[in-house]
Amino acid sequence: MQSAATLLKDIFGFDAFRPGQGEIVDAVIKGENTLAIMPTGGGKSLCFQLPALVRPGVTVVISPLIALMRDQVRGLRAAGVAAGALTSGNTEEETDEVWRGLTDGTLKLLYMAPERLASGGTQRMLHEAGVTLIAVDEAHCVSQWGHDFRPDYLRIGELRRALDVPLAAFTATADAETRDEIVEKLFDGQQPSTFLRGFDRPNIHLAFAAKDSPRQQILSFAAARKGQSGIVYCGTRAKTETLAAALRDGGHTACHYHGGMEAQDRRDVERRFQQEDGLIVTATVAFGMGVDKPDIRWVAHADLPKSIESYYQEIGRAGRDGAPAETLTLFGAQDIAFRRQQIDEGLAPADRRTADHGRLNALLGLAEALTCRRQNLLSYFGEDPAPCGHCDLCDKPAEVFDGTTPVRMALSAALRTDEWFGAGHLIDILLGAKTDKIRQRGHDSLPTYGVGKDYTKPQWQAIFRQMMGHDLLRPDPERHGALRMTDHALPILRGEATIDLRRDSIRAARSAGPKVRQMVSEEDAPLLSALKAKRRALAEAAGGPAYIIFNDKTLIEMAETRPTTLDEMARVGGVGAKKLESYGNAFLEVIAGEAQQLHPQRRKLAGRAAGATYDRLLAAQAELQRGQDGTGRPMTCSAAILAKVAQLRNPDVDALTRLIGDRYAERFGDAFLDVLNDA
Ligand code: ADP
Ligand code: ZN
Repeated sequence: MQSAATLLKDIFGFDAFRPGQGEIVDAVIKGENTLAIMPTGGGKSLCFQLPALVRPGVTVVISPLIALMRDQVRGLRAAGVAAGALTSGNTEEETDEVWRGLTDGTLKLLYMAPERLASGGTQRMLHEAGVTLIAVDEAHCVSQWGHDFRPDYLRIGELRRALDVPLAAFTATADAETRDEIVEKLFDGQQPSTFLRGFDRPNIHLAFAAKDSPRQQILSFAAARKGQSGIVYCGTRAKTETLAAALRDGGHTACHYHGGMEAQDRRDVERRFQQEDGLIVTATVAFGMGVDKPDIRWVAHADLPKSIESYYQEIGRAGRDGAPAETLTLFGAQDIAFRRQQIDEGLAPADRRTADHGRLNALLGLAEALTCRRQNLLSYFGEDPAPCGHCDLCDKPAEVFDGTTPVRMALSAALRTDEWFGAGHLIDILLGAKTDKIRQRGHDSLPTYGVGKDYTKPQWQAIFRQMMGHDLLRPDPERHGALRMTDHALPILRGEATIDLRRDSIRAARSAGPKVRQMVSEEDAPLLSALKAKRRALAEAAGGPAYIIFNDKTLIEMAETRPTTLDEMARVGGVGAKKLESYGNAFLEVIAGEAQQLHPQRRKLAGRAAGATYDRLLAAQAELQRGQDGTGRPMTCSAAILAKVAQLRNPDVDALTRLIGDRYAERFGDAFLDVLNDA
């Protein structure tokens, strides 16, 4: 029997476990009942796939969606694993093949929809097939109070009792109620070994922006990421359609998705998104659980999500492969009012509504945050990390000012008009506008009339939005959305507390679009495109999604480390033995082809001594790309830097470090100096 670590490398092509995976894999291999809660993209599937290969017999995997099962089976087969699925979507040959594998004992993983458990023969069949482990994906589907409840999941507990084998359950939903329900329904209330992994998704960049010209904001965000797969979540069905059209006008491939579409049309969009490289889907939240694509490079919210949990789940669909991913969430005063109204007018009991307001407040706090977004987000989940350096507020700190005075003016305007008006009229009062409404109601004689002239109308709008974001004012559905003060505002009104507001979101948000982030350096970009083109061609020939061949993270590493032999190629993360055999040579050819084209920086040195030095520096760098022992993080200097190093006049450690920086000097310094001193 091979060890887990060997299989990890040979079959899946990974050098190391992700945080948390190792412990879970150990427990599952040992045959413990386990419950693992990991964020989306954390790598849950590996935690049952790998033990299934180590353990004798068959592992049956219960999974809620046929599309997810087929993808996993396809991925496993591409890695050389005997896996199959029994679903209603099977062809006769597929089903026959699964049966053969079960009878002759070669099948290791059998995927099955929960509906199958309803048929009497299934239990007996699984027993006879020698099932030794049950894995349950998306285990929260057993929760009757959740959105994804699947009645047939309730049969799993019975299956476990009948087969008397260990069960491993996986979910990304972490709230305590759901967890308890899983333990009760799947484990008969016997506490399994439980693993709760941190919620951070460090490769996802977080950003919020106040709505200014929302459509333009989304279009420019997408334009900066042309050719990358993305999702735009919209608040309404109509907006998914208009925004998709606008994106197509902007030269993108885009289509829309919402719950009002025919089932067949929805499936078509799901399939296209899964298979195509660079499709944008504008969607309502109906586009959800079935989205398992690992290489979604960005997620934008054209409207504010419902709660902090929804936000986390929706942005979490980006970057499951661990490669960089970007998000942008737009919000405005109207969104806040809309979400409040939705809660107030919903049918939930009062305590539930209060809790929902709390979840919305947590999201608004994040939207109006003054410091690191990730700290804010993770503190909601009970974690306490340092500032992340990978969100809009870490990139560019918020400009704040003491907003106590204007906030008190605004509160006073609301109170003196008996809390019967919306922001528009209150702002007119503060600015001393001469409207009919003001004259008719005699509001020009109020003490607050015209006291707010230090701020412009758009600035007041931003102040009101932030006040709603801090839950100082709430629209009252029984008063047609008139703003009413909440208890949170009392200390400010009484002069017992002050409040800081953001100045930059008061100024035009137009320039605040996130800057374009390249996935690789300029030098490596052409090679990455060439590798992607090869991947697309292979995927089309095989009729499957591109990431089944290699995911983005693997291609990025290939572009950066440029392996020249199959041995070097095998060291790239995500290249297992089977994939090396199937695709290794094809990708090596692409890399070799690219290498023949002389880099422009190198061409400039042609015919000079520095040209030869450059080539030797490049060779020295290739040796040390992954450090002395070949296990370090891949690093390479850009061609422009190497050209400068090659032309260094009086090479010594200091001059070199100034040029390439400490980190690079540590890895390459000695080797480069050897080259330079020999030249
Ligand atoms: P989840 O089900 O938790 O959302 P998946 O099982 O789909 O996540 O894994 C997400 C991605 O992470 C996949 O593309 C998978 O290949 C990759 N992955 C899983 N484990 C590792 C690992 N140890 N090293 C590198 N990549 C991994
Ligand atoms: Zn941050």
